Amino acid sequence: DPDGGDPDWLWRSGGLVPWHEARVHVNAVGHASVAAVFEGLKAYLAADGERLLVFRLDDHLRRLHQSARICRIEIPWTAEELHTAVLEVLAANGYACDVYVRPWAYPAGIIREQMVPAGLRCDVVVDSWPFRSGLADERGCRAAVSSWLRVPDASAPPRAKAFSNYHNGRLALMEARENGHDWPIMLNERLKVSEGPAACVALVRDGRVITPALTGGLLESITRDTALTLLAEADVPVEVREVDRSELYVADEIFFMGTAWEILPVRAVDGLTVGDGTPGPLTTLVRDAYMRLVRGESTGHDEWLTELRLPDRA
Ligand code: PMP
Repeated sequence: DPDGGDPDWLWRSGGLVPWHEARVHVNAVGHASVAAVFEGLKAYLAADGERLLVFRLDDHLRRLHQSARICRIEIPWTAEELHTAVLEVLAANGYACDVYVRPWAYPAGIIREQMVPAGLRCDVVVDSWPFRSGLADERGCRAAVSSWLRVPDASAPPRAKAFSNYHNGRLALMEARENGHDWPIMLNERLKVSEGPAACVALVRDGRVITPALTGGLLESITRDTALTLLAEADVPVEVREVDRSELYVADEIFFMGTAWEILPVRAVDGLTVGDGTPGPLTTLVRDAYMRLVRGESTGHDEWLTELRLPDRA
């Protein structure tokens, strides 16, 4: 039940802990988060209702370690250990619904410096909560190009999924909401399209899908990689290149790609209706293929699904 309240358990540095007992001292928050990194991944209830399917779990855990390396903090748990931890959390909470999983790592202990020293040992947490998938929602969202630029790789690399980077995305989001839009699209320091605050972006022109390169100031999105793979398998031409702001205005379709937002159609950009304002054919193709994939209804990418059998609920 997505409105069912807090889970019973989370995993913290080596074992399951009752969710309400996972506490820290006040001096362990704030400063520590300047150096903290995290992941967001999803376990979908399979179409057969009998299994949870964790989507690209090992790819997310590899990225967590990559983020930690960029931010120079030490995660004392291997990706294999965290893989087991995620499955333990899902099983312990007895989920039989779609679940968002949030692993994160922050320098542990009492920290009173914003310039958190390198190499501190981290506390690692795996939290989780149910979510409601938007994959069947036909409305899409209204996006707006932000006046806030994406932080460049040379300043605060968006390639790292660091909590600090979300200061940048948050400013863009608050501006978009203030102006009556749903989500911002940020330009990078070269004034080319980069990404949204929590998702990458693609557009369609004349039957081709176009999306900014990973060197354009973006997170190495696993959903983007998934979408590009699915498009290639459907023989849809894809261009990975710099994208101008004005290309958004002449696009036939635009969609966001991210774990949280899934494949989210954009129905208007800066107040201009995209196409006829409903999800276009290639957006729909990717979204349907993604939905079948994460629910275990398609073949060909078993390596992306980690299966957890639900206990017999007879
Ligand atoms: N960009 C940013 C800034 C994000 O926070 C996310 C969500 N993790 C994404 C892109 C999409 O990445 P992924 O598809 O791996 O969730």
